[in-house]
Order: sequence, then C-alpha cells, then structure tokens
Amino acid sequence: MKPIYMDHGSTTAVDPDVVRAMTPYFTEIFGNASSLHSYGEQATVGLNASRQIVASAIGAHPDEIIFTSGGTESDNLAIKGIAYRNQDRGRHIITSNIEHPAVLNTCAYLEKHGFEVTYVPVNDRGLLDVESVKEAVRDDTILITVMHANNEIGTIQPIEEICILARDKGIYVHTDAVQSIGKVPIDVNRIGVDLLSISSHKIYGPKGVGALYIRKGTNIEAISHGGSHERGIRAGTENISGIVGFARAMELAQARFDGDCEHLRSLRDRMIGNILKSIDHSYLNGDLEQRLVNNVNIRFSYVEGEAMLLLLNNKGIAVSTGSACSSKSLKPSHVLEALGLAPEEMHGSLRITLGRENTEAEADRVVEALIEIIGKLRAMSPLA
Ligand SMILES: *Cc1c(COP(=O)(O)O)cnc(C)c1O
Repeated sequence: MKPIYMDHGSTTAVDPDVVRAMTPYFTEIFGNASSLHSYGEQATVGLNASRQIVASAIGAHPDEIIFTSGGTESDNLAIKGIAYRNQDRGRHIITSNIEHPAVLNTCAYLEKHGFEVTYVPVNDRGLLDVESVKEAVRDDTILITVMHANNEIGTIQPIEEICILARDKGIYVHTDAVQSIGKVPIDVNRIGVDLLSISSHKIYGPKGVGALYIRKGTNIEAISHGGSHERGIRAGTENISGIVGFARAMELAQARFDGDCEHLRSLRDRMIGNILKSIDHSYLNGDLEQRLVNNVNIRFSYVEGEAMLLLLNNKGIAVSTGSACSSKSLKPSHVLEALGLAPEEMHGSLRITLGRENTEAEADRVVEALIEIIGKLRAMSPLA
C-alpha cells in the first residue's frame, strides 16, 4: 500500500513547482549576487524578486527581510541580535515555557552570559495568559519572544495582545512563525511584531533557507560576521536557488491559503472526532479552538508513543511523538510537561501533522490502523 506521510510539522516534500523555479539557479543563473558582472546581476534579479515576494506575503517592506539558513538561525539572530545591541537598556527577556528549542536554547545560552530570562508558563491547554506576560515585565525587559503557533500541540498564542502591551513599554517583540505561516493569516503590521521568523521547508520549500523579518528602525546586532550581504546583518553569499524556491513556496502558500486551510481543517476535525469517538481513554492535547488547522495531538492511556509510532511505521504511516527536534531523545516533551501531564500520559501521546496532499481516505486509514495497534498494545499491557 502507498505510504502515508503525516509528519508535516517536521518537514514537507518540496512542491514540483518550487523545484521548477529553482532549477535554473543551479545551472545557467549560478552567479554570486555580490558580483558586478552580468552573472551577478542575474542572481541579484532573482534575489530581489524573491525578497519582494516574501516581504509582500507578510505585509512587510523588502528592506525588512533578511534571508537566513532557516528558522533556527532566524530565531538565534532575532534573540541574540536584540540582546547584544540593547543590553545597555536592560538584560531581561521574557518567553514561554513551550517554545521551540531554537528559542529555548538560545535563551539558556544568554542566561549563561549575563542575561535573565523569565519563562512564563502556559495553561493546561498550552495557551499563554496575556496578564501573566504583563506581570513578568520589568523595567529592564528588552525583548518578549513568544511563538505564534506551537510545533507539537498547535496552540496559537495571543501574539497581537502581547505586542500591544509591549509597545507601551518600548519592548521588542519577536515571534517564531515557522509553524503558522501558510496556516494562519500573517500581516506583520496587523500583528504588531518587530521580528518574525519563518522557514522554507515547513511550507513545501527546500531545506536550509528561511527569513527573519526585522521592522524598520529596530536596533539589532549581527551575530555572524563577514561580507556586507543582507545589509551587514547576515554575512555569507546568499543561497540564491534556495531563496528563489522559498519565495515560490511562499507564493503558493498565499495563493492556496483558503483552500489549504479548509482542506486541512476538515481532515483534522475528521481525525480528531473519529479517534476520540472510537478509541477509549484518548484525549486531545492542546486547545480545540486556538489550534493550527493541521495539528492532531492525542494522548492514549496505557500505551507508549514510541511503540505506536513504530507499529504505524511498519504499516507505512509516518507520524511523530513530539517534535522531530526532541523525539530522538527519550526525555518527555517539554511542551507536554508544561501542560501538567503525568509522565505516563506524556509517553502515550502522538502528533499527527497533516499536509496539502493528505486525503480523507488516508485520514481514515490512519484511524483504522490506530484502532488496531492500540487494541493490540493494550491487550499486552499490564496497566490496561
Ligand atoms: C521547524 C521549526 C523551527 C526550526 O526551523 P529550521 O528551518 O528547521 O531551522 C523553529 N521553530 C519552529 C516552531 C519549528 O517548527
């Protein structure tokens, strides 16, 4: 039987249209955008057009887009860049306790270098309370970094309200929008953020490329040093083919936004409904309303997530237990831990992240497989 991929929160296949857009940039148009001859000029045309596309997709000006190697680098640049440049104003940063490791580990690094970080806890559905963020603000707070949507449980945070409280106090706000782009409408001016991270490979673009939106007038320091690429904020010859592919993926995401969201939401709700209805002792992790259209995260009592994952894999079905970034370690997910779940509840959780190409038939096949696998595992479990 045809394999089923339902791990789009980890990565996506590159859209054939994106591959077509990239291809000439490996061969005929191979120039370095910094060169003054016509090869360089041609590369610059592709680079500028891509910057224009990515900027307009999020309501930004092209000068506010810095291309990077992906979400991780964008998060590092945003957080360290703001911290280093603004440390004379204060050394306090606010974040949540369910951020992606690219944010959490960058904050932990800064804590070892003289900065203080407050990790505001989420509630049992993974939502941040804006009042708690407000209470965490101090006179020396320079940055609030809160993800737009969570990669494990899909919770969408009240980032607009956080921006409002920060603006009054002159605090910069960064959001990691890697999971929300293409699934939640994003306009940087409507949201009010100063910095926003996006990545190409979560939206059917190539890996190793992304962008950081930096609002005009934001005081930020470069974190890598070299040539004057990307306005001196991010040195290194631009990955033109990757950037062109990323821009094409952004264009597709924009063009297909309504259809994609409707399709994903309907598959998501079908799966959640069928699983909760047909499998006893199954519970949804995260919030039902403030949730990404493609995220299904469910915990099953009396079974191990890894066992379910491997048996599903034997049937050609790819899902995950937590995020790809933490699932190779046996530590329970910090996100599920933040929801206040007991260890055995965390271990029985599965994350299914849907994509454009998934069908209703696939959704039903996965639910059938889950019913069978969980039945077998529970029959062997002394706890069940
Ligand atoms: C995947 C992901 C990242 C990392 O992006 P890369 O491009 O893989 O470096 C960061 N944040 C979130 C929320 C993600 O899902």
